Amino acid sequence: MKKLVLFTVLVAALLVAIVVLTNQAKDKDIALDSHPSTEGQPLLGDEDAPVSVVEFGDFKCPACKAWGERIYPQLKEDFIDTGKANLSYVNVLFHGQESTLAALAAESVFKNDPDSYWAFQKALFDEQPEQDHDAAWITVDKLVEVAGNTTGMDVDQLRKEIDGETFRKQLEEDNTLVEEFKIESTPTVIISGVKLDDPYDYERIRSLIEEGQD
Ligand code: CA
Repeated sequence: MKKLVLFTVLVAALLVAIVVLTNQAKDKDIALDSHPSTEGQPLLGDEDAPVSVVEFGDFKCPACKAWGERIYPQLKEDFIDTGKANLSYVNVLFHGQESTLAALAAESVFKNDPDSYWAFQKALFDEQPEQDHDAAWITVDKLVEVAGNTTGMDVDQLRKEIDGETFRKQLEEDNTLVEEFKIESTPTVIISGVKLDDPYDYERIRSLIEEGQD
């Protein structure tokens, strides 16, 4: 009997600890005054979905590749394909020239062949080396190769648009969002105006999207 009581007390204590920890994680999320505008940004899913998820990402960032592999597939299946949420991606250029080259290429693909944008985006993250990700891997040749495999774009035109920085203005617009929403690390994920402390917390993502359905 004593053992049973002790066990019950332990279970209760554990439950309290879980609730406290969960709330702490929630408390670290930041409720923003507004949600980032997705105008002019690539958008996956139903434009009129009740919830907007915005990822601020950098092609050179290993954590963004990991988010794309660990969180994105489930998010897509549960909420984007079902019309409950849509996803937008904003370029962040925290890793210098390689980030810039990749973002210029992505904006060019988005403008010229928008239906291929997400295939290109995913294929480019796939190219990011698993190990030595600081090593230079984003080159114009690599971007052209990935676009050649995933889009219907004229790759000579893509090369010209990267070299000529045709979409520099779009990168500046993205950077305006980065500054406005005080993005300090990538990936940063904002759902309905809530900046997640932990973008890998899928249960938190789920609950925010579900709350946004009514
Ligand atoms: Ca953009």
